[in-house]
Amino acid sequence: MTKEINQNNNASQTESVLSADEVLDSSIQYLKGVGPKRAAALKKCGVSTVWDALNYFPYRHEDRRKIIHIRDVENGEFVTVYGLVDTIASRKMRNRKTLVQVSIKDASGIIYGVWFNQKWMKDKFKKGQKVLFSGKAQTSPSLQITNPAVEILPEDFFPEDYEGTLIPIYRLTEEINALAMRKVIQSALERGLPFVEEYLPEKVLKQFSIMPLREAYKIIHSYDYPAEKLTEQNIAIARRRIVIDEFFVIAMGLLMKRRRTEQLPYLIHHKKPGKLVVDFIKSLNFKLTAAQKKVSKEILDDLVKNKPMNRLLQGDVGSGKTIVALIAMLSVVDGGYQAALMAPTEVLARQHFKTISSQLHGTGIKINVLTGSTKAKARREIIESLAAGEPQIIIGTHALIQAKVKIPKLGLAIIDEQHKFGVMQRNQLRGETEQIDVLVMTATPIPRSLALTVYGDLSISTIDELPKGRIPIKTYVIRPERLPRVWEFIRKQVSQGRQAYIVYPLIDESDKLPLKPAVAMYEELKGKILPDLKIGLVHGRVKADEKENVMNAFREGKLDVLVSTTVIEVGIDVPNASVMVIEEANRFGLAQLHQLRGRIGRGGEISYCILVNNEREDQPLREKIKKNNEPVQQDLLETTSNSRLAIMAETNDGFRIAEEDLKIRGPGEFFGIEQTGLPALKLANLIGDEEELRLSRHIADTLYQYRDTLKPETREKIRHRLYRAFGKTIRGVDAG
Ligand code: ADP
Ligand code: MG
Repeated sequence: MTKEINQNNNASQTESVLSADEVLDSSIQYLKGVGPKRAAALKKCGVSTVWDALNYFPYRHEDRRKIIHIRDVENGEFVTVYGLVDTIASRKMRNRKTLVQVSIKDASGIIYGVWFNQKWMKDKFKKGQKVLFSGKAQTSPSLQITNPAVEILPEDFFPEDYEGTLIPIYRLTEEINALAMRKVIQSALERGLPFVEEYLPEKVLKQFSIMPLREAYKIIHSYDYPAEKLTEQNIAIARRRIVIDEFFVIAMGLLMKRRRTEQLPYLIHHKKPGKLVVDFIKSLNFKLTAAQKKVSKEILDDLVKNKPMNRLLQGDVGSGKTIVALIAMLSVVDGGYQAALMAPTEVLARQHFKTISSQLHGTGIKINVLTGSTKAKARREIIESLAAGEPQIIIGTHALIQAKVKIPKLGLAIIDEQHKFGVMQRNQLRGETEQIDVLVMTATPIPRSLALTVYGDLSISTIDELPKGRIPIKTYVIRPERLPRVWEFIRKQVSQGRQAYIVYPLIDESDKLPLKPAVAMYEELKGKILPDLKIGLVHGRVKADEKENVMNAFREGKLDVLVSTTVIEVGIDVPNASVMVIEEANRFGLAQLHQLRGRIGRGGEISYCILVNNEREDQPLREKIKKNNEPVQQDLLETTSNSRLAIMAETNDGFRIAEEDLKIRGPGEFFGIEQTGLPALKLANLIGDEEELRLSRHIADTLYQYRDTLKPETREKIRHRLYRAFGKTIRGVDAG
């Protein structure tokens, strides 16, 4: 995407013919003061082009209108102090982590900057340098700021003639300091801002008191803007504009994508649920819960309507969504249509195939499974039979949405664990020539405001109870020292006929991450720790056949313990398993831990989830949030893995856990940006900015609806803005 522009050569001539895209997509390397080295450092912050730099927003602003004397610093206050570097020291602490302490002094006193486990900080300073520290001060054990924001100032800097203002504070890396970062962004603005076009009509800006885009960029980055007007209030207004921009782009992009689908004809006529469905429900060896009945009815009612279903089924892990999906599929099959169920992993697709096959035994319904590892010959046969309309139910992974796979009588597509799929991927199952009915299922609840944006006018069904007789899982957070007792506990459970999962974050050893790898731990567990138990291993690189053998053996109770990575995260259902140990649990997101934990507690026995916190100290999350510019609130930065894991011990409620997770990690991580196919939210926050999300959606809806009355330039500008955000993925979407 990045086009490099040769500026040395005929700069002015080149200039005149450059389009906005060429400027905004040009590499920052050609900006003033940025060479190859700095460009490489910036790349680590996700900044490669002028456009990236414009959208590299500060995570906060600092009030430099008054730099205070060190003597006046008070405990617990956020302060900025100026001084000369005095002492630089680093030492190993008892727990082998490195402590770096750098003191600076002004005429009134001395204050320390303190860093844990960031050895490299030491090399950033030289005695006598002029430095600004800012952050939360503490007065004991010494007057200090832990992890201060640092600015190393030029030789000729004098605080007296420093034009005090609100300064944007950016996330940095080791190789680039605050001043350099500010300079880069300022020159990116100088170069790129004239090419940033306002795309919202004047009237809209007025009606909703929205600040023009260019002004918002100026204020946020404190660029070319009168210092006296740079107030907290104006920054908030500017931020609101950028937030609206981010939401609008997503809302409009998805709206257009959706409208395009909605123009396709809907020719399907499902019949009312008949004997097949009724008999199936009777054949189950359990009774449906009231919630399952309720959502089944909602879905079946939707199917017979004369418009395509677009429904989200959410229910906590283990709430029994699969049966509901099967009921919907049977109803469709009864009317002569085919139904597809798509799962995010091979293991889950095969499990669905297995259980559904046995549940449908004797009904004469043809069912098949297609995944990435289906052998060529079998694949050909399945594809042929699907095209002939033969298997009435097809289960599979992404393999189902390959171009070659045609399912002519497809009447219903169900997507399991939808949060694992991208928005764009999901759309592919819908069919390209006509609309079909779609049900997406998830155990990870999505805030309604976001759901509406991502899915449009979708209906939501919720299973809000678990099948009777489930005993809540007991969850414990432990230190690795206590693992020997855990192994004993597993032995005891196995002797009572139960089974256990032991989960690791990695397959193999890694140079970068000092984590326990599944393969090595499997050997150790088998050879030394639990030699008397039968242990199996699965992970992402185990061959499909082997994977299936191991899963089957575990399911049939031929294995006592399953060592795995997160391949078992979604959907796996082995009710006899009652123990789950998750090592390095501090490495996982809460929603993911909840999914993993959902593998147990499925039988009638008490189940135990043991989360091992391998983090030595409770480091603030700040250091771990490597993502740049995430608008994380200050207090959340102080959240430690211990307190995060404590939430897991406290509650089994997936909705609460998802909410906590969203607060801590932001939507990008929560959904996995690559997976959603949506542009990243840089400033907008789904939890705090719901008002703006609603407004942006409203504006997008309105502009789309009245697109014929818009000026051609406005439409062109909107199209442009969307192209910037979605790049290639939006292609095929006609910017109305
Ligand atoms: P999820 O909603 O997480 O996908 P599943 O569909 O895998 O949950 O169901 C979890 C387990 O509960 C399965 O073993 C399933 O057979 C069982 N189950 C589903 N509904 C009921 C019910 N009404 N009563 C008892 N067990 C049920
Ligand atoms: Mg499931």
